[in-house]
Amino acid sequence: MQVNCAECGNKAIITSRQVLDPKLANLYCVCKNAECGHSFVMNLAFSHTLSPSSFQAKRMMIEMLRGMDQAEQLELLAQAQHNAGAI
Ligand SMILES: [Zn+2]
Repeated sequence: MQVNCAECGNKAIITSRQVLDPKLANLYCVCKNAECGHSFVMNLAFSHTLSPSSFQAKRMMIEMLRGMDQAEQLELLAQAQHNAGAI
Protein backbone atom coordinates (compact mmCIF):
# COMPACT_ATOMS: atom_id res chain seq x y z
CA MET A 1 0.00 0.00 0.00
CA GLN A 2 1.33 3.41 -1.02
CA VAL A 3 1.03 6.39 1.32
CA ASN A 4 2.26 9.83 0.35
CA CYS A 5 3.30 12.59 2.70
CA ALA A 6 0.53 15.13 3.22
CA GLU A 7 3.15 17.94 3.34
CA CYS A 8 5.59 17.29 0.47
CA GLY A 9 3.87 14.49 -1.50
CA ASN A 10 6.89 12.18 -1.27
CA LYS A 11 6.51 8.47 -0.54
CA ALA A 12 6.08 7.65 3.15
CA ILE A 13 6.72 4.46 5.13
CA ILE A 14 4.00 2.90 7.30
CA THR A 15 5.80 2.19 10.57
CA SER A 16 2.88 0.72 12.48
CA ARG A 17 -0.82 0.07 12.26
CA GLN A 18 -3.33 0.51 15.09
CA VAL A 19 -6.44 -1.54 14.32
CA LEU A 20 -9.45 0.18 15.93
CA ASP A 21 -12.08 -2.02 14.31
CA PRO A 22 -12.03 -4.65 11.50
CA LYS A 23 -13.05 -1.77 9.20
CA LEU A 24 -10.89 1.05 10.62
CA ALA A 25 -7.18 1.43 11.32
CA ASN A 26 -4.72 4.24 12.06
CA LEU A 27 -1.54 4.05 9.95
CA TYR A 28 1.52 5.66 11.53
CA CYS A 29 3.66 7.02 8.72
CA VAL A 30 7.04 8.70 8.28
CA CYS A 31 7.96 10.64 5.15
CA LYS A 32 10.97 9.17 3.32
CA ASN A 33 12.12 12.62 2.21
CA ALA A 34 14.99 13.36 4.65
CA GLU A 35 14.54 17.10 4.16
CA CYS A 36 10.87 16.86 5.20
CA GLY A 37 10.84 14.30 8.03
CA HIS A 38 7.09 14.65 8.57
CA SER A 39 5.55 11.91 10.71
CA PHE A 40 1.77 11.61 10.67
CA VAL A 41 -1.25 9.33 11.11
CA MET A 42 -3.56 8.37 8.24
CA ASN A 43 -6.93 6.62 8.62
CA LEU A 44 -7.59 3.46 6.63
CA ALA A 45 -11.35 2.92 6.52
CA PHE A 46 -13.54 0.36 4.81
CA SER A 47 -15.98 2.07 2.45
CA HIS A 48 -18.53 -0.34 0.97
CA THR A 49 -19.01 -3.79 -0.52
CA LEU A 50 -19.02 -4.24 -4.30
CA SER A 51 -19.58 -8.00 -4.31
CA PRO A 52 -20.45 -9.88 -1.10
CA SER A 53 -18.04 -12.39 0.40
CA SER A 54 -19.01 -16.04 -0.13
CA PHE A 55 -18.80 -16.35 3.70
CA GLN A 56 -21.41 -13.59 4.00
CA ALA A 57 -23.71 -15.33 1.49
CA LYS A 58 -23.48 -18.66 3.39
CA ARG A 59 -24.22 -16.93 6.72
CA MET A 60 -27.28 -15.27 5.18
CA MET A 61 -28.53 -18.59 3.77
CA ILE A 62 -28.12 -20.30 7.15
CA GLU A 63 -30.01 -17.46 8.89
CA MET A 64 -32.83 -17.71 6.34
CA LEU A 65 -33.01 -21.51 6.64
CA ARG A 66 -33.21 -21.24 10.44
CA GLY A 67 -36.35 -19.16 10.04
CA MET A 68 -38.09 -22.02 8.19
CA ASP A 69 -39.47 -25.30 9.40
CA GLN A 70 -37.82 -28.55 8.28
CA ALA A 71 -40.37 -29.28 5.53
CA GLU A 72 -39.69 -25.89 3.90
CA GLN A 73 -35.92 -26.43 4.23
CA LEU A 74 -36.14 -29.84 2.52
CA GLU A 75 -38.40 -28.46 -0.20
CA LEU A 76 -35.87 -25.69 -0.98
CA LEU A 77 -32.97 -28.17 -1.02
CA ALA A 78 -34.91 -30.41 -3.42
CA GLN A 79 -35.59 -27.39 -5.68
CA ALA A 80 -31.93 -26.36 -5.57
CA GLN A 81 -30.83 -29.87 -6.58
CA HIS A 82 -33.44 -30.01 -9.33
CA ASN A 83 -32.32 -26.62 -10.76
CA ALA A 84 -28.64 -27.59 -10.55
CA GLY A 85 -29.41 -30.74 -12.56
CA ALA A 86 -31.14 -28.66 -15.27
CA ILE A 87 -28.01 -26.55 -15.97
ZN1 LIG B 1 7.21 14.90 3.44
